Amino acid sequence: MIHFNELVLASHNAGKLKELQAMLGSTVRVRSVGEFSTVEPEESGLSFIENAILKARNAARLSGLPALADDSGLAVDFLGGAPGIYSARYADGQGDAANNAKLLEVMKAVPDAERGAQFVCCLALVRHADDPLPIICEGLWHGRILHTAQGVEGFGYDPLFWVPERECSSAELPAAEKNQISHRARAMALLKQRLGLA
Ligand code: IMP
Repeated sequence: MIHFNELVLASHNAGKLKELQAMLGSTVRVRSVGEFSTVEPEESGLSFIENAILKARNAARLSGLPALADDSGLAVDFLGGAPGIYSARYADGQGDAANNAKLLEVMKAVPDAERGAQFVCCLALVRHADDPLPIICEGLWHGRILHTAQGVEGFGYDPLFWVPERECSSAELPAAEKNQISHRARAMALLKQRLGLA
């Protein structure tokens, strides 16, 4: 088991930091990589795992602390896993609406049976920048790509993602419910187990 008093999160997102601090409790102080540098590393990996490790190593190097990073996105079966690690910039950086419009367009002739997809969240925890044994926790959330957008909650591809176990899109789920069953929730639950917190 890993023991530490401080951990740096390789993210500038205050919401993610709060969520992680709540999960780890008061014995571990969670700090943001933004305290050490505002320059983000190039995400040059080809997989979620590679990019999460890259970000974690970078944060550990900058801070001298153990570091946790996450990488997430949408992997569509029919597209060989695309947009995958490029989910945020699928439509060349034009934002969520353009990403969704592009996905609907490329999937428009694809029948229901071939519209399977998963949201993916990969967490990587390194004890130090050169750690040869990162802890990797992956959460997958299986669903299907809708033919039209549904719902207004959430962000990103949520309006296009049909959640079979709830019979609605992930943009129709209240945030609290999504946060219990999503790819991120699953990866976090695994991390908790690995750290002996569950
Ligand atoms: P990030 O890892 O939080 O930066 O997410 C990368 C991209 O994946 C986001 O910009 C979204 O396009 C997509 N994505 C990741 N998680 C979700 C989710 O829970 N709902 C919708 N889109 C998501």
